[in-house]
Amino acid sequence: MMNTVGAAALNAPKIGKAASRAHLETPAAVLDLPLFERNLATLAETCRAAGIGVRPHAKSHKSAEIARRQLAAGALGICCAKPGELLALFEAGIEDLMLTAPVASAAKIDALARAAARGARLMVVVDRADLIAAYGEAARRHDTRIDVVVDLDVGLLRSGVAEPTEAVALALAAADHPYLRYAGVQAYQGRIQHIDDFGARRAANDEAVRRLVPMLDALKAASLAPAIISGGGTGSHVLDAERRLFTEVQPGSYVFMDEGYNSVDIAGRGALVFGPALRVAVTVIGHSSAGFAITDGGSKSFAWDGPAPRVLLPGPSGDRLVGTIEWCGDEFGRILPAAGCATLPIGTVVECTVPHCDPTINMHDVLHVVAGDRLVAQWAVEGRGRAD
Ligand code: PLP
Ligand code: MN
Repeated sequence: MMNTVGAAALNAPKIGKAASRAHLETPAAVLDLPLFERNLATLAETCRAAGIGVRPHAKSHKSAEIARRQLAAGALGICCAKPGELLALFEAGIEDLMLTAPVASAAKIDALARAAARGARLMVVVDRADLIAAYGEAARRHDTRIDVVVDLDVGLLRSGVAEPTEAVALALAAADHPYLRYAGVQAYQGRIQHIDDFGARRAANDEAVRRLVPMLDALKAASLAPAIISGGGTGSHVLDAERRLFTEVQPGSYVFMDEGYNSVDIAGRGALVFGPALRVAVTVIGHSSAGFAITDGGSKSFAWDGPAPRVLLPGPSGDRLVGTIEWCGDEFGRILPAAGCATLPIGTVVECTVPHCDPTINMHDVLHVVAGDRLVAQWAVEGRGRAD
């Protein structure tokens, strides 16, 4: 489904006409459709071949259209980091939704239960008995049922229980509640995702598995063997697929690819598995007194917590690397030209790779979807700003 967004201001009227990628009004979040489709298909195929499910994380894209495409590629459902993000996607038509973090707000719990009563197939992660009780009470109030996933800490030190007895107690509480259903466990180890070396990442993943196995054994011994064992991300999915302890993985960044992920040897083959599908297009608006090209996008257009963006000039024979960009203010960037590249003239639109996609997408209402030289669609980022 093509989702055209009226609020895309200056770029909106171009859809359907001969809109060129090189003439976007900037700063603009740009999605290279062929690269995105390849990223989607590559991960789906890796997991399909290994017989492991995929429940992609929407924290990276916050977009219902991308979620729909992930579901069409075989995803079991969509993960969300926050209730606001989840509810925005639900309002935009996505119904299989898993909240991957615990919450501590009666209003949020109530809103989630109301969404379940309105047709959301909702799974929520819990790591406290009082949270199970609160979800159960909200589900009763709205006369609905909520699936509960017990969060296990396998070394992230963020959420989840780490003791087998605690895991069993929570699973039992969920299983016993008339308005809840015990669906399984989550064991996400975020710290290992960005370990560059494949062998070192495998060793770190093995360590997480060593923490997980006693909890799974205890659940099994209590007749609470989890139907769902969910975890893993872009950095670990090849290892998770190989091991097959998880029933599903939750990768997010693979659709777009952070610049920060490019040093990670994801598949252990020393080659990039995913391409930089998300870019931020910026325009050269002038030159500094020292002669550097200055662009119209700074920290209001990118999250800079990662390696510097590469500056690409898309063309018929692919992207040409013309430099890197350094932060130069809230609204400005400074292009450091690659060896042999001339300073770009005023008015040039370039595309920058993204240091960290998840927080970057949270700054953009719309994805400008391009294929070759053409702007072919605009997809809403419905969850933009929904960090609540
Ligand atoms: N699952 C959870 C619980 C996460 O917090 C994250 C990211 O932070 C992911 C999955 C996806 O990770 P990635 O974007 O590295 O694929
Ligand atoms: Mn991230």
